[in-house]
Amino acid sequence: MARTAVEASSNRSPPGIPKHLRPIPCNLPSYELPPGIDVSLHIVAETGDLVLQLEDVGLGLDEKFRVSIDCLRKNSQYYDSMLDAEKFGEGIAIKKKSEELSAKYGPSTTPPLDELPTITMLEIPEINHRVTSTITLMELFLLILHGKTPTWPFRPPESMQSLAQLMLIADRFSAVEVTKRYVYENNITTSGYIHSLASARRKDLQLRCKLLAGLYLGESEWIRLGSAKLIVEGSHQWSQGLNSREDVGHVPAWYHLPGGFEEELTARRQALLDTISSIQKHFVCLYSSKELQCKKGYSNSQECDSFHLGEMVKFFLRKGTLDMQNIYTDHDGREYEGDITELIAQLKECPTYQVDSNHSHCGVRQRMAPLLYWLTPKEHVGICLQCWNDDRLEESWLEKPTGGKWTNSTNDSKRRTKCEEHRAAKAMYTAEERNWTPPPQY
Ligand SMILES: [Zn+2]
Ligand SMILES: [Zn+2]
Repeated sequence: MARTAVEASSNRSPPGIPKHLRPIPCNLPSYELPPGIDVSLHIVAETGDLVLQLEDVGLGLDEKFRVSIDCLRKNSQYYDSMLDAEKFGEGIAIKKKSEELSAKYGPSTTPPLDELPTITMLEIPEINHRVTSTITLMELFLLILHGKTPTWPFRPPESMQSLAQLMLIADRFSAVEVTKRYVYENNITTSGYIHSLASARRKDLQLRCKLLAGLYLGESEWIRLGSAKLIVEGSHQWSQGLNSREDVGHVPAWYHLPGGFEEELTARRQALLDTISSIQKHFVCLYSSKELQCKKGYSNSQECDSFHLGEMVKFFLRKGTLDMQNIYTDHDGREYEGDITELIAQLKECPTYQVDSNHSHCGVRQRMAPLLYWLTPKEHVGICLQCWNDDRLEESWLEKPTGGKWTNSTNDSKRRTKCEEHRAAKAMYTAEERNWTPPPQY
């Protein structure tokens, strides 16, 4: 029995692709291949006048797609330019070949496939990592360019990575708008959930793919919540050391998000860590200053301050966070890689010891706990896509930190919009100096 082109392509197993990474067979509208035709042929347009070839000798890849020049030119600026018979070599050569075929077979007869002009598709994004999915996605993408609405052939957890790769392919061939339309008309964004039981590496990959797809699709909530999650919880990719991966070779776009986004994420995480460390420094300086912190007025108030300074230093030492220069680094100089909320939870464990029963509220715990509660990062540390697109410099913590001295002014009860909230967060996290006393009010 003849198989459809998509079934044929997705059931084959190119070398080096583990079984669990192969795509689920898709259910694009079926069409029968003519007998005797190679299974690597994909009929996108039955009477198409061009063959696109996806070839990579190293990957054992040689796929052909029969397509229509008119449809490609209409929906892809890339192909519109390339196939322009007035401007580019490919366009001129293809027009000449088409005229020859028309003269040979007549204008109303479709020429045989093996005589059609052929062009090779180059630089397909992330093909090395996802050979079989790429073939399925290329066929899907070309069907979209031909105004067809194929069923989305992937399911979670592969779905999000495939969506990210589809948007990269759309960008490569300057056809983002038509692809976006397909994505929304077919509700593909609803398959964007991330499985809570997946491994940390898998979750990181899916979250990054969601961010990448979200950037192309303009999904502002994906960006706001997803970027906040990555900033606060850290990324498996960062803990693997991005540079070492770059040395190995090509890094997929989702592992280094484009347009300065990756750099912005790491800068925001660093700003959060610096801010938390500034609280620790603030209290060590306070209890070692000449100003008496114990307000009881007893003869042993000086002793009370010394006691708390000693207990505080012992506590920070136990937590390994005392180095004021680079406070959340380990002995190899690597930055803290864990979840920032867990770091804050550790600091909240500061003990309630007292020098004697008269000094029950003199310690740092009572003063630091409200700050730590307030500092537990929320969604507004994430990137606001609207502000990012409107004025990237103004939104960026990396390129334009607010700087200056920040004084807490949260005791106004005014409700803030989301944009006001993230600007207030930027002012605090990117200040040069922060005044933590008095503590914020709720
Ligand atoms: Zn005291
Ligand atoms: Zn905003």
